[in-house]
Formats: sequence, structure tokens, C-alpha cells
Amino acid sequence: MTGIPVLFVIVPCYNEEKVLPITSEIFLDKINFLISEGKISDASRIMFVNDGSTDNTWRIITDFAKKDAHFIGISQSRNRGHQNAVLAGLMEAMDKCDITISIDCDGQDDINAMDAMIDAYADGCEVVYGVRSKRDTDTVFKRTTAQGFYKLLNSMGVEVVYNHADYRLISNRVIRELANFGEVNIFLRGMVPLVGFKSTSVYYERNERIAGKSHYPLKKMLALAIDGITSLSVKPIRFISGFGIVLSVISFIGIIWAIVNAVRGTVVSGWASTICIVCFIGGIQLLCLGVIGEYIGKIYLETKHRPRYIISERTYNDEKSPIDLLSPLPRRRGF
Ligand code: UDP
Ligand code: MG
Repeated sequence: MTGIPVLFVIVPCYNEEKVLPITSEIFLDKINFLISEGKISDASRIMFVNDGSTDNTWRIITDFAKKDAHFIGISQSRNRGHQNAVLAGLMEAMDKCDITISIDCDGQDDINAMDAMIDAYADGCEVVYGVRSKRDTDTVFKRTTAQGFYKLLNSMGVEVVYNHADYRLISNRVIRELANFGEVNIFLRGMVPLVGFKSTSVYYERNERIAGKSHYPLKKMLALAIDGITSLSVKPIRFISGFGIVLSVISFIGIIWAIVNAVRGTVVSGWASTICIVCFIGGIQLLCLGVIGEYIGKIYLETKHRPRYIISERTYNDEKSPIDLLSPLPRRRGF
């Protein structure tokens, strides 16, 4: 690495008018401190990504940008979810900086971990994961479900860093490689380890939200878990195949048993057992079809090659052509 790196802090924001005025000051103080320490260049920026908020979030961001040159913002044309918002920020920052750090805007991630992240980058790491050292501030429910989530992902062969969410440093080189991962179903936690390069973790304590409320209730967390597994692993389908084979063998034995009994004339009424088997097989088949359907749905979405985000506004002039703005990633096929 040569020279002082330019850092872009990527901050996804969705209906965060309550918390932004508080945390933006914290972000700015941190950036100014890092600049004064000579760790990052003065060209570094805090890039807010407005994820189609319906409140005053975007107006607040544009006001920040007018107040201090270190603040910039982009706005998505509609709400696309946290993962897409972070991706939009990363792709927008590509080639404008040397490193990015993605961080939530609610003050939960300890901003002071950035120093260690930048030091790790100076030591040659291209990816630095922010990892929660403990989960004291979580409710028992959130803690248990989150731990179950990581265990489930790992058991399905999805490589994720335990207790790491989306607070991470990645270098411009990694962003360029990530841009080649063209999938529409995005699960950055699982995708970044697939890019590779030298990586390390820094540990921090996660706080409670400074203001506002979480956008991740159980339903959305479950959706994220299912997305993570089905986007990055085919193990559930393999499991179904294995299960199908075992059930087929059992059924085959059952058929022989039934024929033998019929020939010997010892057939009993057998209503209960028949009903049980029909229900069992019916249930399993529906479940398996559902899992397979989940994958087919994913394939369907992937084949459309729709843009993963659409940037409608920026607080600065971007020299890209209007066509580039709509599809900032290299297109993989023509129409
Ligand atoms: N977020 C977003 N789009 C969404 C939902 C959330 O950009 O559709 C942002 C949100 O503003 C925050 C981050 O993603 O900066 C994490 O969301 P939240 O704090 O609600 O999740 P939690 O920390 O409770 O898991
Ligand atoms: Mg949060």
C-alpha cells in the first residue's frame, strides 16, 4: 500500500430521522480524528445510502452534505432492504476510495473499532470483519435466535464469521471482485468470505440502538436466514435427495411386506397405519417441494438480471452517464 488511504464509510439508512442527527456527529468526529492522526486521507467521506425512506431521512442527509464536505449521500429509488443498500454504497464507492467500512447508522456498532480495522488494513489485510465480543445488550430471544442462525448457516456449508453482521472493512480490490458476483439474492456476509484475500477480525461490544426501532423483527430475520442458506448452499436439496432415497428403501420394504401378507392371507384392516403413512408421506412431499420451490424461485429471479439497486439521487455530481447510473455493474448478457 502506498500513501494515506481514502476511506469511504458506507451507512445504510431506512427511516432513521430520529437517530441520524445524533450518529452523524459521531461519524464525523471519528473521520476527523482519523484524518488528524494521519491514518486516512482528508478526501475520506461518510456516504449515507438512503434506502427509500418514507420519512425525512433524505432531507437530513442532503442538509448534512451542505454543512460538511465529508458527508455525501446517495438515494435509492425505493426501499430494497439493508443488503442491497450496502451493496449500492459499495458499488458507488468503487474506484473512488482505497477502503470502505460499512456500518449501521443506529450507533449499535462501536465506531472505535474502525481504528483497529484501518491498522489491520495497513498490515496488509484486505477484509476486516467487525465481530461482536458478546451479546449482553440483546434480549435472550434475539441472542438465542442469532446463535441458532449462525449454527444453521455453518451446518449448511455457508461460510460466515460467527457474530459478524455487516460492520466490515473491505478494500477497493475486494469491491472490484465483489462486483463480479452478479447474483440478485444478496447475502454479503456469505459472499465476502467467498471473495477471499487476506482477512482478519476485530472485536467490539455492540450497544443498544441510540434511537428509533429495529427493522429486523423475527419474520425478516427468518427471511434473511432462508435467503442466506438458499443463496449460498445447495445442501437442503442434497438433504432432500438423501431423505428421498431412505424413504424409497423403507417404502420398498413396506411393499414387499404388504405383498407377503396379502399372499399369506393375513391382511388386517390397517386403517390407522395407512392414514399415518399417507399423512407422513404427504407432509414430507409438500415440505420437500417447498424447499425445491424456494430454489426455483431464486433461479427465476436470477434469470431476470434485474438491477439490484437503482440510484435516483446523489448529493454530488457523478460523471457517469445516465445509462451507467441505472446499471452500474458490468452486464453479463445482452437482451
Ligand atoms: N436498513 C436499510 N434498509 C432496510 C432496513 C434497514 O437500509 O430495509 C438499515 C437501517 O437503517 C440500519 C441497518 O440497516 O442502518 C440495520 O437495521 P436495524 O438497525 O433496523 O437492524 P438490527 O440492528 O435491529 O438488526
Ligand atoms: Mg440496528
